Amino acid sequence: MEFNLDVPFIRDILAQECARARDEIRDLGAVRALQSSQQRHDGRIAAAPDVDTLACAAGCTWCCYFTVDVRAAEVFAILDFVERRFTPEERARVYAEVRANSGALKKLGDSERVTRNLKCPFLSEGRCGIYAARPQSCRNYHATDVAGCQQSYDDPDDMDIDPEFAPGVYQAGVAHVEAFSTAMHDAGYDVDAYELNCALDAALSEPGARERFESRLKPFTELDGEEVAAEFDDLEP
Ligand code: SF4
Repeated sequence: MEFNLDVPFIRDILAQECARARDEIRDLGAVRALQSSQQRHDGRIAAAPDVDTLACAAGCTWCCYFTVDVRAAEVFAILDFVERRFTPEERARVYAEVRANSGALKKLGDSERVTRNLKCPFLSEGRCGIYAARPQSCRNYHATDVAGCQQSYDDPDDMDIDPEFAPGVYQAGVAHVEAFSTAMHDAGYDVDAYELNCALDAALSEPGARERFESRLKPFTELDGEEVAAEFDDLEP
């Protein structure tokens, strides 16, 4: 789908979010700054001019079987949320599912991994169990037509299926995430992308992962992250 970039709109979000995130990372630390930023992220998407064209609704879960990328700060924010909100039984179920998914994914090559439908461990009874702490990838995944999402689910090997999206929502979400990542990167934190299940498994099993992250080191010793290219790099202030 082709669309025109709204350059002033993107520049405004990049400048505002970068400045606010820099202050909050300094004052609150990386994980709490992320939690604060997530509320602005949702607000920006809700205020996008074409938000009413989205087909996304509670109970629609096709995208919760697709690969989810996360940054380390999101992994620790999710684990904090689970520790606070889930019962011991729910935690045990989710962590067992995380380990099973991670084990299955580690046996696959890169291309097989992204074309494998795998239920997200947080999807339960048709709802996201960590909605307030869900990753930025989930916050930014939107479609204006459910059929495209279902097609991707039915035919995961076909990478050419591209569900219709809302350009305003897309630009607001991507600009927000890129601004926060720039602020994190400039503060020295790891901003590589990791697969959700593998990163959660590593955070739960590798002693000192969070301390390494807070010390501005690579948090996971047995997991390679991927550098994410910024889409609006040339529009940054
Ligand atoms: S974290 Fe929530 S929204 Fe994201 S894939 Fe999992 S269940 Fe779906």
